[in-house]
Amino acid sequence: MACKLGHKHSMNPPQHKALHEVRKRIESAAQSAGRKIGEITLIAVSKTFGAEDILPVLQAGQTVFGENRVQEAAGKWPNIRATAPGLELHLIGPLQSNKAADAVRLFDAVHTIDRPRIAQAVGAEMARQARQLQLFIQVNTGDEKQKAGISVASADSFIDDCRTKYGLQISGLMCIPPINDVPDKHFELLATIARRNDLKHLSMGMSGDFEAAINLGATHVRVGSAIFGTRAGQSR
Ligand SMILES: *Cc1c(COP(=O)(O)O)cnc(C)c1O
Repeated sequence: MACKLGHKHSMNPPQHKALHEVRKRIESAAQSAGRKIGEITLIAVSKTFGAEDILPVLQAGQTVFGENRVQEAAGKWPNIRATAPGLELHLIGPLQSNKAADAVRLFDAVHTIDRPRIAQAVGAEMARQARQLQLFIQVNTGDEKQKAGISVASADSFIDDCRTKYGLQISGLMCIPPINDVPDKHFELLATIARRNDLKHLSMGMSGDFEAAINLGATHVRVGSAIFGTRAGQSR
């Protein structure tokens, strides 16, 4: 059976089939929400997986990938990138300011701008390297102590500071809902904060909840295990 990309399923590794399945689910979620498929970017989250697992996904036509650690990405992506121009790499995990230079060099987007120090460091590095990255501010929608992200109460003023004080062009907002909570209200809250701050992009939704996120306006879904399979003993 041939899929849209012209490959034969029987000859393809499981990642290809999983990717195809996720794409179909994104399409039907968009359709039920009355949204255009072109508004939604699938970020294939490849953390903990090596080139042997990433290449089949690349070959199946996926061009946008996400990693949560600068160090790990620096180790595996330069080689893959050299063979695949046009690829986009997104940082979706916490960033330390001493890694800002590496992050700006390696990535095309950062989803985790969440405090003044990081906003400043990324801004300075983009200027130094003459590179413009797509930037998302992470909001801690559940106000969880252990979780990264700007608090809900400080979100508006931080967005404003990013724009005026740090001169950043902010593309949108990102959240990771609390693990034991219904994600919908967090997606709604993120969409509300984005709307009142005139931000168009919403990075929300993972393997377990990307359809709900699309229904509530996600423009970037970050999907790992549904494409690559279960990760071996790594937290997020
Ligand atoms: C790992 C990770 C994902 C992907 O999670 P899955 O449940 O495997 O889809 C999404 N977003 C962030 C920030 C992550 O760290």
